[in-house]
Amino acid sequence: CALFGIYGTSDAAAHSALGLHALQHRGQEASGIVTFDGRHFHNHRAAGLVGDIFGTQAVMEKLVGYSAIGHNRYATTGGSSDRNIQPIFADFDFGGLALAHNGNLTNAYLLRKELVRIGCLFQSTTDTEVINHLIARSNYSTVVDRLIDALGRVKGAYSLLLLTNEALIGVRDPMGVRPLVIGRLDDAWILTSESCALDIIGARFVRDVEPGEIVIADGNGLRSIKPFAKQKRRFCVFEHIYFARPDSKVEGIGVYDARKNIGRELAKESPIPADVVVPVPDSGVPAAIGYAAQSGLPFELGIIRNHYVGRTFIEPADHIRHLGVRLKHNANRAHIEGKRVILVDDSIVRGTTSMKIVEMVRNAGAKEVHMRIAAPPTTDPCFYGIDTPDKDKLLASRYDVAGMAKFIGVDSLAFVSIDGLYRAMGLPGRDAASPAFCDACFTGDYPIDLDDVLGVEDRQ
Ligand code: 5GP
Ligand code: SF4
Ligand code: MG
Repeated sequence: CALFGIYGTSDAAAHSALGLHALQHRGQEASGIVTFDGRHFHNHRAAGLVGDIFGTQAVMEKLVGYSAIGHNRYATTGGSSDRNIQPIFADFDFGGLALAHNGNLTNAYLLRKELVRIGCLFQSTTDTEVINHLIARSNYSTVVDRLIDALGRVKGAYSLLLLTNEALIGVRDPMGVRPLVIGRLDDAWILTSESCALDIIGARFVRDVEPGEIVIADGNGLRSIKPFAKQKRRFCVFEHIYFARPDSKVEGIGVYDARKNIGRELAKESPIPADVVVPVPDSGVPAAIGYAAQSGLPFELGIIRNHYVGRTFIEPADHIRHLGVRLKHNANRAHIEGKRVILVDDSIVRGTTSMKIVEMVRNAGAKEVHMRIAAPPTTDPCFYGIDTPDKDKLLASRYDVAGMAKFIGVDSLAFVSIDGLYRAMGLPGRDAASPAFCDACFTGDYPIDLDDVLGVEDRQ
């Protein structure tokens, strides 16, 4: 999901709509914006793309206010019904509260069961609403103390934005799995998922919100508190591999260069004689540039993508996913025919996209097709906010590399090693005792407890 919040400007909603548009890649299912004008909250939430939802004057005129938070939804838990569109909004004894969440809670099901048992009426099926009820039930008085109290019960990955009558509040979970950055535009403060959402409105990047940090922007400026016990940071390495936009800088690393570096590592680890390096667009492009530069082979756009189709995997239904890939890619025959082709892509999940792309490249006359993947094999599902299928649907959990190569129909297949991935991030390798990132979908080493999956009752 995507988050964008702003405090202290007369066009809070317009800025938010632009920010959410820059973050469209993080979720295409639905969007919402809640504003506050000093007396009243206003909100508009709908299914669809940001430009369609917030492209009309009637909608934007409704969203008056000097502060706002917005969200793009990308379904992980909760299904795609309208009542799950964020930000969620409710009235509390202290005033209104809008809440938007990127990530996924890993004990929400158990907490929800407990809350329902004591009489909480849930409006949605999202994990996020649990936080709202915990805030409502907290015995503390200020919003921030209640939030800290609520988050003390919650496990999982979360970057959160809250909008109250007084403030814009941002939080990252203690391991900082999902991103959140701070920006400044004149007197306004901005909290958003990625720096590309600052660029679109001409705002300045200030810094990342730290793991476990709460930042509060209000009439007195920006303050920060760190109420949680310090933990080792474990930012999602898949943000660098695939999810974040290449022109963003997150956690101090430029995403485009990180991807190019992975391509370089891949070329060092798994070279192969060939005539041309071809990216699977768009997600494979930066890694393919790195692979070509390192190997000295020519880089060509041997596959052309139709840009008027969204990311196929974000479409929830399987039959649409299958349709999607043919809508999306076409071989550029002049640069494929008679050639030994190295295809570079960011990851293999189910393997269905890769299989169809390989078939397409062979039909265009490729002499050999080799595939190089800028991530290690995806062996395990994500429970922290990226929509991966169940383990039994992951190609890498069903086959070894040779088996995967056969399944997708390539002459050779190689993945970057886990150490190669860490080297691309500027580290010596993966420190197994204390890894610098969350890499659970490649290692099965889950840094945050999976209570809901394991059925562990929370007895705190
Ligand atoms: P596959 O070969 O696994 O079907 O698709 C691989 C390509 O599609 C990659 O380029 C990746 O960007 C994207 N992709 C397809 N399905 C998913 C999915 O369920 N999750 C993620 N993270 N990426 C996917
Ligand atoms: Fe990111 Fe993978 Fe960890 Fe999920 S499991 S947070 S996708 S690294
Ligand atoms: Mg892709």
